[in-house]
Order: sequence, then C-alpha cells, then structure tokens
Amino acid sequence: MGLNQKTMKQKCPKCLRKVLSWGRKHFKIVRYKLRALLHPQKMQFYCPCCGIRFREFVAGDYKERPKRFNPERYEHTRQDVLCPVCRALPRHRILALWSEEHKQLLKSAKILYFAPEYSMMKWMKKNGVTCTTADLFSKAELKLDIQATGLPDDSYDVIICNHVMEHVDDFRKALREMHRILRPGGSFICSFPMDPKVELLDEDENVLTEEEMLKRFGQNDHKRVFGMKADQFLTEIGFEVERIDGKDYPDEILPVVGPADYDMNVLFWGKKVQGNSLQKIS
Ligand SMILES: [Zn+2]
Repeated sequence: MGLNQKTMKQKCPKCLRKVLSWGRKHFKIVRYKLRALLHPQKMQFYCPCCGIRFREFVAGDYKERPKRFNPERYEHTRQDVLCPVCRALPRHRILALWSEEHKQLLKSAKILYFAPEYSMMKWMKKNGVTCTTADLFSKAELKLDIQATGLPDDSYDVIICNHVMEHVDDFRKALREMHRILRPGGSFICSFPMDPKVELLDEDENVLTEEEMLKRFGQNDHKRVFGMKADQFLTEIGFEVERIDGKDYPDEILPVVGPADYDMNVLFWGKKVQGNSLQKIS
C-alpha cells in the first residue's frame, strides 16, 4: 500500500473513502468514453462487458506475483488482454458476445452463477438479465459447495461456472451436481484452464502443497489443468456439448490465448439431455 493510500485510510472515514473510490471509477469511465468519442478511428478494441471501445487493453500483474502465479506460464502469451475498466479477460468478452446472441434465452431463464465475475455481472445488469450468485468462500447470495449444493433436482434453467473446476477437490462430483440441479433442457455454461499440451487432464494426487500446485498447474490453488478434449467430462455425464470458441469471435474483442498459456479461451455450452431425446433450447 502506497503512502498516500495509507494516509488516506488513516485520515478519511470509511464513507468518504467509498465516495472517493466511486468518483475515481466513474471519472475513469467518462475519460475512456470521451476518448472513444473524440478518436473513434483509433479505437480498435471493444469490451462488450462494459460496452466501451479502447485503443488498447492493459496487462495484469500476474508476473509480479510469483507466489500466486507461475511466471513461466505468462512468458509466451500476450499480456495486454485486460479491459482497463471492468477487468474483463478474453473469455469474459467471448461469453458477453455469446450472451448478446442468446439474450432472450438468458432474460427468461432462472440462472445460477457460481463464482460470479464482475465484468459479466456488469453485462447482465446492463442487459436486464438477472441471476442468483453462489460461492463457497467469496461474497455471494448463496453460500454453496459446488460438489454438494443441497439444492433440489431440476432447479435452474442455466448455470454459469467459469474457472471453478480446477479448484475443487472432486470436479467430476461437481459436474454431476450441476447436471442434477439443472432442469432437463437446461444449459451449463462453463470454462476452465485448458493447456494445449494436455489432451484430457493433468492431475496428480501427490501434488498437494501450494508450491507444488504453482509449479505444476500454474497457480498456487489449482488442483489440476484440463486438456483440449476436456469437453469429454461433460459428455460422459449426459450433456450435449457445443464449443463457444474464441477463434469464432471478432478480433476487436481480442479473443486470443492468454494471459496464461493455459487460457485457451474456449467455453463449453452443455445442454442437459432429457432421457434419450434431445431437448434443444436454442
Ligand atoms: Zn470492459
């Protein structure tokens, strides 16, 4: 924490700090919107989560936090992929554009959003899509263990769950649980770290400490990394799977691999099949 921030924390009451933070955030948004208005020809990038055009995206601080993120996994991928306003990554922008295409489905659906992400929540709010949020550790409406939610069968039309399965003890149990609480014909939208060098899954029960996980899986709380055929885990439990692939989306959202080399930016759309007959919802 810098000296100014430290002094401000000591001298300013909490409510004033909140007002100042709100002011700074909104000043930044106005500044970016104004720039886009004045120099539209220079704005080659677009963030559909916050709806703002940019001259460039920015880099995260992953390489500066080597105890949390393995810097080697960030060496050979593009780093300036983060939206400077809503912090959306390529995968969030891909999901936002997919959601634009399926807005009517989402607007009428009962949605459960595991580990809600700020940039997508922003898109939802802007587009009149509502959801119930869930998380075991972070702030959310429901405190749920994704491996055993305690929710009734067939409870939700749509479940969104990005980059959660690499953290849980038993991801197969969690996927089965998602399938159970989705209504027949419902949609499971999910993504996870996918390493192009891995075919299906890299997991090792002997990798237990934070240091070992950091070295092997790229982050100190990742228990595994998935491979390019990881959609197999969804089809095995009864989902019909469609890939939401970054390469099918426009360059202006910068749907490239990154920031880590296991961020392949492929999302999966798992449709719960009822019995043997397919219930398509699109
Ligand atoms: Zn944004």
